[in-house]
Amino acid sequence: MTEQRWLPETLYDSWGMRMSYQVERVLYEMQTEHQSLMLFEHKRLGKVLMLDGATQVTTRDEFIYHEMMTHVPILAHGAAREVLVVGGGDCGIAEEVLKHASVRRLTQVEIDASVVAFAKEHFPAFTGPVLADPRFDLVIDDGMNYVGTTDRRFDVVIVDSTDPQGPGAVLFTAEFYAACRRCMTPGAVMVTQNGVPFMQPDELVSSVGILSRLFADAGCYVAAIPTYVGGHMAMGWATADATLREASVATIAERYSSAGRFATGYWTPEVHRAAFALPRFIAEAVDQARRG
Ligand code: SAM
Repeated sequence: MTEQRWLPETLYDSWGMRMSYQVERVLYEMQTEHQSLMLFEHKRLGKVLMLDGATQVTTRDEFIYHEMMTHVPILAHGAAREVLVVGGGDCGIAEEVLKHASVRRLTQVEIDASVVAFAKEHFPAFTGPVLADPRFDLVIDDGMNYVGTTDRRFDVVIVDSTDPQGPGAVLFTAEFYAACRRCMTPGAVMVTQNGVPFMQPDELVSSVGILSRLFADAGCYVAAIPTYVGGHMAMGWATADATLREASVATIAERYSSAGRFATGYWTPEVHRAAFALPRFIAEAVDQARRG
C-alpha cells in the first residue's frame, strides 16, 4: 500500500504554520523560468495549483476570489471598456471579466508563458472561453515593464499576482503602482491581490500606504477564501473617484442586470457593498497605512 503523500503550503513557515494537502495524484510538476509549479488532484478541492509553495487556485473555491476581484471593480466603475489584468496566468480572472458585454478589450500581461500553456491543458473551463474570445489580448511580459511602457489606457486594472516574493515582488512596489496610475483613464479603478491581513499585515499596510499617496481613494475590501488560510483576504482598492465605492446596492443591482445577470456563486450586489465594511483590526491597519 503506497504511502499517501501530503503536500505542505510553505507560505507561512515564518509563522510556524503549515497547511497540508492530501495528494490524490500529481498532474504536473516543473521548475519554470520564473518559479516552481505544482498541480495536483485533491479529493475535495479538485485541481490545486501551487506556485513557489503557495496556493494559487483550486477548482472548488476559485469562484470566490475570481468573482470578487472582477465584478466589484467593473460594476463599481459602471462603464468599463478597457480592462488590464496583470498576472492571472490560470485565466480564471479573465473568464469572469469577459462575462461583461460592456468590456471591449481585455489585455492580460503574464510573465510566465508556462502557466498559461499548462492552464490550457488543466483549466479548460477558464482558458476555453477566454482564448476563443476576440476581445482577449495576451501579452507575455513582466507587468512592471508593460505598465511602464504601454500607450494603452485602462478603465479597470486587476493585479492578480503571486505573493510579494520572486517575480511577484515588483508588483507590490511604488514604481509599479505609479506606473499603473500612468496608464489608467480618469476615474479608473485598480484592485490588487493583497494577501490575508491576519497573516500578512505588512503587505496590506505597505500597499495601502503607497496607494493612498497616489490616489484620492485607497483602501481595501475583503472576502473569505477557504484555501487562502488565515481568515479574510484583502483586495487592495485605488481610484481617484471616491464615489465609486459608494455606489448603492440598487445601482449595483441595476448595472448587474444590464450586464446580463450572469451566474455567480459568491458575488451579489449586497455582498459587493458589504465587502467594504472592514473588521476593526483591518480598518485600523488601513487607517494607519493612510496616515503613513
Ligand atoms: N490568485 C492567485 C493568488 O492570489 O495568489 C494568483 C494567481 S495567478 C496564477 C498569479 C500569476 O502572476 C502567475 O501566473 C505568475 O506567473 C504571475 N506573475 C508573477 N509575477 C509577475 C510579474 N512580475 N508580471 C506579470 N505576471 C506575474
